[in-house]
Amino acid sequence: MNTTDILVSEVGPRDGLQSVKSIMQTGDKKAWIRSLAGAGIKEIEVGSFVPKTLLPQLADTQEIVEFASQIEHLMVAVLVPNLYGAVAASNAGADKITLPFSVSETHSQANLKRSHEQLFDEVSAIRSHLDSLPPSQRPHFEVSLSTAFGCTLEGAVSESAVTRSAERLMAQGADEVGLSDTTGYATPDQVKRLIQSVRRAVGHDKLTGVHLHNTRGLGLANVLAALEMDITTIDSSMAGIGGCPFAPGASGNIVTEDLVFMLESMGLNTGIDFEKLFESRAILAAALPNEELFGFIPQAGLPLGWVANEY
Ligand code: ZN
Repeated sequence: MNTTDILVSEVGPRDGLQSVKSIMQTGDKKAWIRSLAGAGIKEIEVGSFVPKTLLPQLADTQEIVEFASQIEHLMVAVLVPNLYGAVAASNAGADKITLPFSVSETHSQANLKRSHEQLFDEVSAIRSHLDSLPPSQRPHFEVSLSTAFGCTLEGAVSESAVTRSAERLMAQGADEVGLSDTTGYATPDQVKRLIQSVRRAVGHDKLTGVHLHNTRGLGLANVLAALEMDITTIDSSMAGIGGCPFAPGASGNIVTEDLVFMLESMGLNTGIDFEKLFESRAILAAALPNEELFGFIPQAGLPLGWVANEY
């Protein structure tokens, strides 16, 4: 059988590298991405088309997207803050673009310097651009509902605000919406409720992925809640780099290695090879010698006699 039950979407090269102090060399990034793909990871968010002055860590995104798009069977995802980024991403050969939309308008103004109305217009402009491309060169267009589970500036974010935003973003031309726990506030019951209400508004197949954080230790519990709601794409970051690690000792993002262990142990196929995954981690460790790496499985090891599912 060559099927994957759950798509593990690796966000380390984007969400991870943008949050660490060190800048990974372009050659190291390529080696890491090639190795991740070789380990069986089928979707990688490889960068972000933001101004180089804002995120020097991701200044080589165009070159990295062009490189990654040559890797067979790899879905190359990239973050885009606006139309300019979407054009650059499609020109470079990205398969998927993700525009972040903060449901908390305070957060949106503070981080993206954009109001909701401006972002809705941007979504329409991106849709028009994508529609002008031949279908084979048209990336899948996801809008990620960030701060969906709460905001560090506004506090609680209402579920109806998330649902209304999702509806409007689909109407403006997104192919799909995603739920993102930017702040690490999510709890399992909330994950289930929000998935259900957004799907009720936009349709089951228009919400297939979640981006959850482990800031408060609930990362994998929240993944489990999402799995119970038939979510099929889970974002995670190798060694848990990136995200928002407010608490000392806690990873920000969910650790890819720990996620794969949980999924495979539950009988869910990821298509990922652990031995090769650990080799990728070694590449990461060598390239970022000054950064802390997380993960229980890499530290404790796999249980004696443990085997992954047949793939
Ligand atoms: Zn994250």
